[in-house]
Parts: sequence; structure tokens; C-alpha cells
Amino acid sequence: MDSFVYNGNPGRVIFGRGTISRLGEEADRLGVQRILVLSTPGQANQAAGIARNLGNRYIGLYAKARMHTPTDTTAEAMELIQSLRADAVLAIGGGSTIGLGKAIAFRTDIPQVVVPTTYAGSEATPILGETENGRKVTKSSAKILPEVIVYDVDLTLTLPLAMSVTSGMNAIAHAVEALYAREANPVISLMATEGIGAIVGALPLLKDDPHNIMGRRDALYGAWLCGICLGSVGMALHHKICHTLGGMFDLPHAQLHTAVLPHAVAYNQNSALEAMARIKASLGWTDPAAALYKLALELGAKMSLRELGMKADGIEPALAQMLSNPYWNPRKLEEGPLRKLLIQAFEGTEPDTRVMQLP
Ligand code: NAD
Repeated sequence: MDSFVYNGNPGRVIFGRGTISRLGEEADRLGVQRILVLSTPGQANQAAGIARNLGNRYIGLYAKARMHTPTDTTAEAMELIQSLRADAVLAIGGGSTIGLGKAIAFRTDIPQVVVPTTYAGSEATPILGETENGRKVTKSSAKILPEVIVYDVDLTLTLPLAMSVTSGMNAIAHAVEALYAREANPVISLMATEGIGAIVGALPLLKDDPHNIMGRRDALYGAWLCGICLGSVGMALHHKICHTLGGMFDLPHAQLHTAVLPHAVAYNQNSALEAMARIKASLGWTDPAAALYKLALELGAKMSLRELGMKADGIEPALAQMLSNPYWNPRKLEEGPLRKLLIQAFEGTEPDTRVMQLP
């Protein structure tokens, strides 16, 4: 670490249990009075209940948030924003709902209060991925970054175990790539190391008992740190693969990250030694790729892209797309080893670091 640039994102974070009771107070701090609440259809009842904490600042609920932030959904929500003259949004849910809030804020610059209920980490980033005509386009802007995050551990108790595991692995992926990012810096690396450790410690507790409060607390705390990592430094191979495969084959976000991560780590293992040393220390294993694979498998995650709905004939087009759009990674993108990586992830085998090296 000879020199570095640290670029911190502003943000106010309330963390704890029962914190949703402070939503009205937070609205007053922001000086907003007409709040549209956002959720997915599945969390509509939960969101309507939480919205009561806003008192008469709650003016309506839009409960049609969808994964990958389709622009037609945003357009419909925007009509409601205008007809109700909303001056803020409250997004309650995972990355899909938070994405909708960000898309609205990008168009209007109204403040966002966010209550995350998964571990995806979107709440801590100024990044928005929107889908139009089947194509996902990512943008970054200060307008996109939520003003206030209210983490209420109690709301994560209902997150199903399978989703808790894959969402936790999704968070770990942000921290792993932050450790070997081109813009890696000591502050973000501290958060990444702490974030990985918190989630790796929490997930086995949740497997034994999804209502384990300590496990839920640590997973959510880790998710916040990992989200900061994602929002502060550039990502590399792993996120690129997931972006490409998710966009081309409409694969489920958190599950996809879980199945790909061990293979991306294996690919980069010999090209990011300092990062790997930190990951090893957080995981307590000497082989980080194998450790991530075994952890996810033992927690019951699906580890093959085939099981997630990808077809074998998708490997070559995905590879071509990845290679046609070069991006930074600690190890150069090499066609042969990358093909092997995709085949291993497709089959769901334990990553074999040797076969990913060129002969
Ligand atoms: P999600 O938001 O789609 O949630 C998955 C499902 O779980 C939904 O039906 C949701 O209603 C339900 N759910 C969420 N929390 C729950 C809870 N506590 N109890 C019961 N059910 C609950 O999934 P996600 O993985 O959080 O988000 C994925 C989306 O977020 C993708 O579109 C991805 O691109 C985006 N994302 C964006 C960023 C960013 O920085 N821009 C970062 C991470 C993810």
C-alpha cells in the first residue's frame, strides 16, 4: 500500500432492532411530508404495516417492484409520484425494491429512505441497473445514493433460509472483489474483511435457526459493510460474469452470485495475493475458492448454473460477450481459462484452480 485514493459516500445509517419506529423522525429530519412507500407484491402487507410509522406522511403504496428494475415499472411508479405529489420515497425490501426507489430518485432527485430486508447491499451504493427491452444498463450518480438507511434486524427474520444464504454470498462477493479492486484502499479493505467475517460467522447460525438474532444481526451488519465496498470501488471479473449471465439468461441474482463466486476467486487466486491472504484470514481456510464453495454447498445453495436455468449452449455466447467488452481484473482475461471457469460453474463442480491456468 504505497498510495491510494479513498472516496467515501455520504449516508446516514440507523442500525438495530425495532428501528422502523424511527421512520417518522427520519422523515422530519429530511423535511419531507408526502412519502410514497415501495415494495414487491410479496412484501406489500409488511410494507403497509411498516408505513404506519410514518403517520400522515404516508400517502400511498406502490407494490409492484420487480427484479432488474424494468423501466416500464418505473414509468408507472413515476405517474403515482406525480399524481400524489410525493416528496420522498420509502423503499422496503431487497435490491429489487431499492432499485425502484433509486430509479425514481434518479429521475426526480427526491430523497430516499431505505429499509433493506435482504443482504444484497444496494442501499449503500450510488449505482442503478435498469432494464429496457431486455438490456440492463448501469448508471452511477450521487442522486441514486439513498439519503437514509434504516436497518431493522427484526425484518430479516422472515427472509427464507435459502435466500438468506445466497443473499449473504452475494454480499461476500462485493467484499471479495473490493479487496482486489483497482481502486482498493485500506479503509475499504478493512470493511471488506470485517464484512466477510461477519457474514461467514452468521450464516451457519441461521442454518441451525433462521430466527437466531445474533446471526441475523451479524449478517445484516456484514451486508452493510459489503454494500459500502460495492459502492466505493470498482468490481471485476465476478461481477462482470454475473452481469453478463444474468442479463443474457435472466438468472436469479443472488443464486447466480453464489454459484459463480468460488470460480471467479479461483481464477484470480494467484493474481491477487494480498487480497487472498485477507480472504483466507476471514474464512479461516487456506484455499479461499474451495472454502467459499464448501460453505455455500453446506448451507444448501445450488452450485450449478444448470440448476439455475442456464443451458449448456449459452456458454460460448456468454464467453464471447465477456471477451468482447474488456474490463479491469487483477488477472488478464484469457479465453481458455475463462471457458473452463464457465464450464465448472455450469456443472457446479468444486473449482479446480489448476485447470484455470493456461498449460
Ligand atoms: P429481491 O429484492 O428481488 O428479493 C427477492 C425476494 O425476496 C422478493 O420477492 C422479496 O420481496 C423477498 N424478500 C425480501 N426480503 C424479504 C424478507 N425479509 N422476508 C421475506 N421475503 C423477502 O432480491 P435481492 O437479491 O435483494 O435483489 C436483487 C436485485 O437487486 C437485482 O435486480 C440486482 O441487480 C439488484 N442489486 C443492485 C445493487 C446495486 O448496487 N445497484 C446491488 C445488489 C443488488
